[in-house]
Amino acid sequence: MRIETDPEILRSFLSDAAHVPGGFAAGVVFPRSVEEVASAVAVAPAILPVGAQSSLTGGATPRGEVVLSTRALTDIAIDRARGIAQVGAGVPISALQVALASQGLWYPPAPTYDGAFVGGTVSTNAAGAATFKYGTTRAWVTGLTIVLADGQILSINRGEIVAAREGFAIDQGGHVLRVPVPRYVMPDVPKLSAGYFARPGMDLIDLFIGSEGTLGIIVSVTLRVVPRKGRCLALMTCTDDGQALRVTRALRERAQRTWLGEGTLDVSAIEFMDARSLAIVPETAFERSGTVKPTNGAVMLLAQVELNASGDIDETIEALADTLAATGVALDPVVALPGDETSAARLFELREAVPVSVNAAIAVTKRADPEIQKTAGDFIVPFDRLDESVALYRRACESRDLDYAIWGHVSDGNLHPNVIPRSRDEMERGREALLEMARAVIAMGGSPLAEHGVGRSPLKQQLLREMYGEDGIEDMRAVKRALDPTSKLAPGVLFPSVDGSPAQRRV
Ligand SMILES: Cc1cc2nc3c(=O)[nH]c(=O)nc-3n(C[C@H](O)[C@H](O)[C@H](O)COP(=O)(O)OP(=O)(O)OC[C@H]3O[C@@H](n4cnc5c(N)ncnc54)[C@H](O)[C@@H]3O)c2cc1C
Repeated sequence: MRIETDPEILRSFLSDAAHVPGGFAAGVVFPRSVEEVASAVAVAPAILPVGAQSSLTGGATPRGEVVLSTRALTDIAIDRARGIAQVGAGVPISALQVALASQGLWYPPAPTYDGAFVGGTVSTNAAGAATFKYGTTRAWVTGLTIVLADGQILSINRGEIVAAREGFAIDQGGHVLRVPVPRYVMPDVPKLSAGYFARPGMDLIDLFIGSEGTLGIIVSVTLRVVPRKGRCLALMTCTDDGQALRVTRALRERAQRTWLGEGTLDVSAIEFMDARSLAIVPETAFERSGTVKPTNGAVMLLAQVELNASGDIDETIEALADTLAATGVALDPVVALPGDETSAARLFELREAVPVSVNAAIAVTKRADPEIQKTAGDFIVPFDRLDESVALYRRACESRDLDYAIWGHVSDGNLHPNVIPRSRDEMERGREALLEMARAVIAMGGSPLAEHGVGRSPLKQQLLREMYGEDGIEDMRAVKRALDPTSKLAPGVLFPSVDGSPAQRRV
C-alpha cells in the first residue's frame, strides 16, 4: 500500500472542524478495500483513521501518524426487503440518504452535518436532532467489518459475541484474544459519546461503536434503514427560554402519546436557538427562511413533525396549533409543508447559520490572537432536569461576564452552550465555566460528552475523567492494551498515550 507524502496532498488532512493548529502527518493512504486497510496497518507505526474530518474535538487532526483516509471505501449495497444497507466507511451520510431515497428508504440517526462519513459517525456514535424518537447511531448498527491493530480482519454481527463475566473471548483462528469490559456505570441518557461503552453482558459490536478510532479501523458497516416518511418543519417563536421549554415538553408528551397510538402529532426532533444565537445571525438568513429577526429577546424552536399514518397534514397542523395555543405562543409558526424541500432547506439553513455565525465572530477575534479558540459544551441531562440545566449554563457564563450563546437538540436535553471569547482571558474563564457546568451536569445524572466525542481535546479528556474517575480511565486503558498493545491506532485520542505522545493541543 503506497503511502502518499506529497506535502500538497497532506496539507488538506492536517486539521478537522475543531481547527486546532499544528496538525502534521507522516503520510496519507487511501485504501480501496479491507485488504488494503490491513496492509496499511501492517506497514505504518501509527495510524489515524479519518472520515470527513468534521470532528469538533481535534480527534481527526493528525499528530505525526499516517492518516488513513476512508474516502475511497464507498460501496453501498441496499437490501430493501431486509431493511438493511451495507455501506463503506467512506460514504458520506448525504450520499447514503440519496441512495436510500431512490428506493423510498431513509437512515434516521444522521448528525446535523450530513457530510460526515458513515465510518466517522459509527466511530463517534453520532446522533442527530431526532435522537428523541430514533436513538443514536449505535441503535442502527447491526454489523461491522474492522481491521484490528495487528492487521487481523474482524467481521461481527450484533448478537454473535457477548461478554462473559471475565470479558470477551475473541477467537482469531485458534488464538483467543481476551478483552476486559470496563466496570464504570454509564449515565442513563439518550445519547452518549464518552469513551468505551460498558455494561455487563454487552455485545462486542458496542465496544467498537463510539471508540473514536482507538480500537480498530471500521471498513464497512451494516445499518438498519426504514421507509421514508412524509414530514413538515415548523419554526416557532417563543417569548423566552421558559416558554420554549414548556412548548418542547408539551410537544414531546404529545409525540410519546402518538407513538402509543393515542394521538396525531408525531414530533421527531426539536432544535432550540436562544436570543443571543439569533442576535448573531445576519438579517438575510431570516429573510430567506420567510421570517423576521426577533428583536425582543425572543427564542426560536425548529420542530420536525412526521405525518401520521393517514398522511393527513391538516390534522397534524391542527394538533400543532392546539399545542402552541395551550402553551401561550402568540405568533403563528412558519411551516415547510411535506414535499416542499426548498422551504425546508431554508429553515435548516437558518438553524445552521447559528454555529456558522458564532464561528465567524470567533474568527474575527482569532485574527488578533490566533491562540483564541471556540469554547463549547456538548451537554445532555435527563429531560426533567432541562430547565435547571439551562439556568445553570446561564449562571456559569454570566457570573464570569462572558458573551455566550446556547443552541442544540432540546428534545433530547442536549444543548451546546458556546462561549464567544473576546480575549484569551475570556477563553480561560470560558473553560472554567464549562468545567463548572460539566460537574453539575454529571451530578444531575447527565453527561458533558453527549454526541461529539472526546478526541484529543484536553478539556474533553478531563471531562471524561470527571465522569468515570481515574479508575474508569484505567479500565479503558486495559481495553486499549488488549486490542492495541503498542497504541498504534489513534494514539492520544480519548486519553493521553502512556508515553505522552502525540503532542496534545488545547481544543
Ligand atoms: C457543523 C457541524 C455540525 C455537527 N453536528 C453534529 C450532530 O448533530 N451530531 C453529532 O453527533 N455530531 C455532529 N458534529 C460532529 C461530527 O460531524 C461527528 O462527530 C461525525 O460523526 C464525524 O464524522 P467524520 O466522518 O467527519 O469523522 P472524523 O471527524 O474524520 O473522525 C472522527 C473520529 O472518528 C475516527 N474515525 C473516523 N473514521 C473512522 C473509521 N472508519 N474507523 C475508525 N475510526 C474512525 C477518527 O479517528 C476520529 O477520532 C457536527 C460537526 C459539525 C462541523
